[in-house]
Amino acid sequence: MTAINELLARHSRTRDLGHPEIPTPVPSLALTIVTCMDARIKVFDVFGLKHGEAHILRNAGGVVTDDVIRSLTISQRKLGTREVIVMQHTNCGLSQITDDEFKTDVWEDTGLRPTWAVEAFREVKDSVRVSVERARRSAFLLHTDNVRGFVYDVATGLLDEVV
Ligand SMILES: [Zn+2]
Repeated sequence: MTAINELLARHSRTRDLGHPEIPTPVPSLALTIVTCMDARIKVFDVFGLKHGEAHILRNAGGVVTDDVIRSLTISQRKLGTREVIVMQHTNCGLSQITDDEFKTDVWEDTGLRPTWAVEAFREVKDSVRVSVERARRSAFLLHTDNVRGFVYDVATGLLDEVV
């Protein structure tokens, strides 16, 4: 059984079918959280977040990439968000590889060298600073005065504000 089939089976047993409890797509806290896809991070629990309060954007690293800027722009211009949390974390997989090594591995396996940046980093705080600056300096965003960056410690569950 694949994981997808497992989830489809769970869905068929779920009483509420994940039916949205709120009538609007507009996040009630006017907030977007950018964070890593790391399966350890329980982003709703980290912030005591409730359903419907925020947009959650996740990718490898929790990096503000061009595609995250795309979503932030839509979030702010069409769905009213005004604040951004960038939360990266300790022990991230992106701190254990380098762009060049990873791209070379992919190239050797596939014959294609990715044109995109892997966004690997050595020091997570530096990566948070880069991502926060990308958001703050974006010409497309309406609200850049409340963009704040954090490191989440996966060992302690504590947040450290970086910038
Ligand atoms: Zn990560």
